[in-house]
Amino acid sequence: MNANSLQTPIVYLKGVGPNRAETLQSELGIHTFQDLLNLFPNRYIDKTHYYKIGQLQRSNADVQIIGKIVHLKTVEQKKGKRLVASFVDDTGEMELVWFRGQKWIRENIKLNTPYVIFGKCNWFNGKFSMPHPEMELLKDHEQGLKVVMQPVYPSTEKLSNKGISNRVISKLVQQIFVESKGRFTETLSEKLLFELKLLPKSESLFNIHFPKNQELLAKAQFRLKFEELFYIQMQLIAKNMLHKQKIKGFNFDQVGTIFNEFYKSHLPFELTGAQKRVIKEIRGDLGSNAQMNRLLQGDVGSGKTIVAVMAMLLAIDNGFQACLMAPTEILANQHYTGISELLEGTGITCSLLTGSVKKSARKPIHEQLESGELQILIGTHALLEDKVKFKNLGLAIVDEQHRFGVAQRSRLWHKNDIPPHILVMTATPIPRTLAMSLYGDLDVSTIDELPPGRKPIKTVHRFDSNRLKVFQFIRDEIKKGRQIYIVYPLIQESEALDYKDLMDGYESIARDFPLPDFQISIVHGQMKPADKDYEMERFVKGETQIMVATTVIEVGVNVPNASVMIIESAERFGLSQLHQLRGRVGRGADQSYCILMTGNKLSTEAKTRLQTMVHTNDGFEIAEVDLKLRGPGDIMGTQQSGVLNLKIADIVKDNDILKTARYHAMQLLKDDSSLEKPENLVIRHAYSQLVKYKNIWNYIS
Ligand code: ADP
Ligand code: MG
Repeated sequence: MNANSLQTPIVYLKGVGPNRAETLQSELGIHTFQDLLNLFPNRYIDKTHYYKIGQLQRSNADVQIIGKIVHLKTVEQKKGKRLVASFVDDTGEMELVWFRGQKWIRENIKLNTPYVIFGKCNWFNGKFSMPHPEMELLKDHEQGLKVVMQPVYPSTEKLSNKGISNRVISKLVQQIFVESKGRFTETLSEKLLFELKLLPKSESLFNIHFPKNQELLAKAQFRLKFEELFYIQMQLIAKNMLHKQKIKGFNFDQVGTIFNEFYKSHLPFELTGAQKRVIKEIRGDLGSNAQMNRLLQGDVGSGKTIVAVMAMLLAIDNGFQACLMAPTEILANQHYTGISELLEGTGITCSLLTGSVKKSARKPIHEQLESGELQILIGTHALLEDKVKFKNLGLAIVDEQHRFGVAQRSRLWHKNDIPPHILVMTATPIPRTLAMSLYGDLDVSTIDELPPGRKPIKTVHRFDSNRLKVFQFIRDEIKKGRQIYIVYPLIQESEALDYKDLMDGYESIARDFPLPDFQISIVHGQMKPADKDYEMERFVKGETQIMVATTVIEVGVNVPNASVMIIESAERFGLSQLHQLRGRVGRGADQSYCILMTGNKLSTEAKTRLQTMVHTNDGFEIAEVDLKLRGPGDIMGTQQSGVLNLKIADIVKDNDILKTARYHAMQLLKDDSSLEKPENLVIRHAYSQLVKYKNIWNYIS
């Protein structure tokens, strides 16, 4: 069956009809033959084994049993009638139960005749019972196609209520195979099939729906996953290539005196290998005539700032301005302070622009920016205001990108006729290939190495009932001259309850750590920026020993003397947030600690999060667990990116296949970017079909 006939509306498939067609559409999004063919089973049930009633275990999931119905009765109950059959084999007796469709069963079931039943067993009133079993006469079962592994298709309550059971779906899929004689147009080239030893399309489709054995099933799955990921990658890479051709960028071909001088005389430490590599990648982009659009990911504390600074120096060496935008005032301030320090003695001009910079102070900044006198501007969203006009912005850096949407990124772009180079930095790392698939048009650089000499942070989980011991530990650390963070969840800054928790917590801490021996800072989202800064400052300067805060301190804040991070109600935080918070300590030479406080009641997922935190400091590992727990949908605005629409591949579990697919898509497009070679005709055709029927556009936001 070719791609066009597969676009036939599902209503025309024998056995469907208008009613079923409507249900299939609304419940499973199946509009065409193709859609049904691409409805892949979630799992398979081993049908080679027949259970005996006497062997059933309470943990048994789906079982298949041969036996006879010896008796049928209707039982009245408050909520309505149910039909109960007693079903026996030579080892025992159990019940089959129907709540719906009782009339049909009564009229059609044959007593004392061997059946094969299939379904889930419950243990109920001292007996096994199976609600709504799938049933087939033993003699039909023996004649029929021997299904080794029965596919289980996605289902919904409405589907089963409307009688579209798993069996019905399987029958409909069979019908497509009958009508097409099982032949479907190949969608991958000979070369790929050969090189990767892939199963042909028709065979893959057959074995995904009606596996002949485990081995063929595995091969079919591999091929179909590969195909799905391959075409997404083709699309993304093609888009990226197009972007590079269309969008010219400033060419920073000079690695001039400013960069070199800084490298020689101002660098406060030796760069790590990873930092050097990443700077090289950025330099490559900046000198390539095309606009850079790069994501720089590196774990908290991996040293992204210095990379940003050196990229800005490249811009300045080529006569351009640069800016750095941070998501919060606290962070912008810190960047400004840190970067000003780094630039001391270089003669480079650098200013700070945030919402709380006074009008009178803004004016000179605006002027110097327009004249080109000001070379580096650091700030918050305030940089995006229309009044802020650069003379020649060559590089825009966005820190902690998950706080910024794509829309904001592109506003930065439109400050010039030619867009500046863009570097986006994030401390929520995700596997590289995944990042490429999610962001598509962004290239990715990764700092995968921490600066030397860092002591891994020791992380423990403590229950609230151990609070006194934890407080004693805090006291001991403060005696050693260390500082402490205590963080409360404030998921929504407006949530009154959270706010109350924070204030209660603050009061109890103030009682246990009284003045004048102890000084406490408090920072939360309901404070005025100026008050926040004041409190932050006191902590940064070491005037206070304890910082009680909400997650406003999550991002970026750098106080090397702080060695203990206590997270209250830690079960309420997501993994990446916990990891970010922990990253606030461990920045100095001292051993640092992270204490996760929780109540006694914890969900399984919360336990996994806490265990993961205790077990590892590695941001990539944490990101992977996080992905597995939450799915990619929640991460950094990926909702629209469509990776959730995958039909068979799993972007996390199938990362290796994704890599392979990306590699081959890249090779192919490098070699034959317009897919003109005869051997690539198959791919060209399949690709244009996908685009034509919009399937692939779902993946692209
Ligand atoms: P992040 O990637 O979280 O933004 P920062 O850039 O703030 O990390 O760096 C964290 C700390 O590590 C800073 O105090 C910085 O000065 C220091 N640092 C960065 N790179 C190095 C290096 N190569 N060697 C030693 N210290 C470094
Ligand atoms: Mg940072």
